[in-house]
Amino acid sequence: MSQNGNFPPPNLSEYEGFYRDFSWEQISRQLSYLPEGKGLNIAYEAIDRHADGHLGDTAALRWIRKDGAEVDYTYAQMKDLTNRFANVLEHLEIGTGETVFSLAGRIPELYITVLGALKRTAVFCPLFSVFGPEPVFQRLSRGKAALLVTTTTLYEKKVLPLLNQLPALRYVLLTDAEDHLSEKVLSFHKMMGSVSATYQIPDTDPETPALLHFTSGTTGMPKGALHVHQAVFTHFATGKYILDFKEGDIFWCTADPGWVTGTSYGIIAPLVNGVTNIIDEEEFEAMRWYGLLEKQKVNIWYTAPTAIRRLMRLQLKPMEQFDLSRLRLILSVGEPLHAEEVLWGQETFGMPILDNWWQTETGGIMIANYRSMQVKPGSMGKPLPGIIASIAEFDEQGNLVEVERPEEGGQLVLKRGWPSMFRTYIHEEERYNKCFHGDWYISGDLAKRDADGYFWFIGRADDIIKTSGHMVGPAEVESVLIEHPAVVEAAVIGKPEPSIGELVKAFVVLKEGEVADKKQQLSIIGFARQRMGPAVAPKEIEFVEALPKTKSGKILRRLLKARELGLPEGDLSTLEK
Ligand code: ATP
Ligand code: MG
Repeated sequence: MSQNGNFPPPNLSEYEGFYRDFSWEQISRQLSYLPEGKGLNIAYEAIDRHADGHLGDTAALRWIRKDGAEVDYTYAQMKDLTNRFANVLEHLEIGTGETVFSLAGRIPELYITVLGALKRTAVFCPLFSVFGPEPVFQRLSRGKAALLVTTTTLYEKKVLPLLNQLPALRYVLLTDAEDHLSEKVLSFHKMMGSVSATYQIPDTDPETPALLHFTSGTTGMPKGALHVHQAVFTHFATGKYILDFKEGDIFWCTADPGWVTGTSYGIIAPLVNGVTNIIDEEEFEAMRWYGLLEKQKVNIWYTAPTAIRRLMRLQLKPMEQFDLSRLRLILSVGEPLHAEEVLWGQETFGMPILDNWWQTETGGIMIANYRSMQVKPGSMGKPLPGIIASIAEFDEQGNLVEVERPEEGGQLVLKRGWPSMFRTYIHEEERYNKCFHGDWYISGDLAKRDADGYFWFIGRADDIIKTSGHMVGPAEVESVLIEHPAVVEAAVIGKPEPSIGELVKAFVVLKEGEVADKKQQLSIIGFARQRMGPAVAPKEIEFVEALPKTKSGKILRRLLKARELGLPEGDLSTLEK
């Protein structure tokens, strides 16, 4: 399956040759670096070099407010604003390596904060605005927040209750306060107005810490992954060769910057590539989304399986109602994108949705489907040029050995040392070290590679089900279940059953109007048995209204399992309410 349409040729025209000849040196040459050999700074690559070049008047950000009004921020304006924010930090004596947090919805001040903090060589960490006070406190405290940018309401509701337990937090800047509240709680805009719009970025060694991201907490307590300025190599390369950014493009990433996707691809990658980045302040709403794609003439749209499934469920025909002729590429990340969903893209938009895989820890996309490459629906695609990915297993002596045979499942591993590799888990050095074995980074996901070199996701190592001597990956069972005509979503867990180890149990969300009864259960079990064989097909089906998910839209199988077994529910800070 491949793309068609009258679009300019892809930046990556032929995968195999490009992969073979690739070097990070080629990427380095396409970046500008700070003047006078002062190093490499993400914000300079994202903003200043474009502001000073021919893109000064191009919109860097187009902010679409909840009420639909649009506000553009050009690269030149963003240079000015981020310089000001860096000066505010300097004025407040927030220096290199100190952590600046944001807790806000998708408002312009958030984007100014990220890039201004990077200019100042502070570490930036985003928080999701819907976190409650406890998760906010946990992260501010573990990340040693020195300064927080937030709104008055969020401050009062979520920060104030535990403020006296955050001794490292020296300042809170309120984006909507006209005046300073105290010596500590200041008005963002008043501070911005009181400083100069010129700023000299300090020397930035590429290994300078830049971004702190907490993981989604799908498998347990979120971990704080730290990234350095050199990560911009990956942001640039993936933007150019996977998202296929070209000058003049309009790009929309639907992820919130509270998650790594919303920062790496909702802020940095598009700006480093000089395109116009759409920010929608509002949450998901199908007609608004389609309308936005049309009105903004979006060329590249990066979203997630959870959103795709919500759109699928509505059974709309967007191409009949909206002019989406500018749309060249649709991509998805975060969870398995099943074959059915890829094919829905082809039927609905005339192009397959391109799945790609990465993690908070990897800092950017590592495995992807490319515009120029044949898509095998259900596969995550092939490694980014410059990335060596493989499938490996531990042998009896404890050595990690690459699995040579195609189609054999194992640990998904990456050769360590890529530019956006996390440099630590904060306060958890030992856990960090455990992620590596020799030259390899062990992702914690299981996958297989086919004879053509395509990677296929099996499941998270923690979610694998051992049943009657088989290892069953939830992803493969779920992708079959959703092909049943009555099913929209499914999550599969292993339930202890002495005779067979674990029994495969599925939680199923039915399409609207479908009946949740015994007959339906048998129909789904029968369908799955026919497709997968009785050993792998679920033996139990439970109908549910909705599946528990993280706020970034990932199914929390560990919570389904804990509830099923009556065990403690664990960290629920990222649970969508
Ligand atoms: P935690 O590490 O706290 O449990 P998390 O792993 O969900 O949370 P993220 O770093 O946001 O946190 O998510 C990365 C994970 O998401 C991957 O390890 C993988 O399990 C899943 N994932 C991402 N992209 C894909 C994809 N294209 N197909 C299947 N799974 C994916
Ligand atoms: Mg993880």
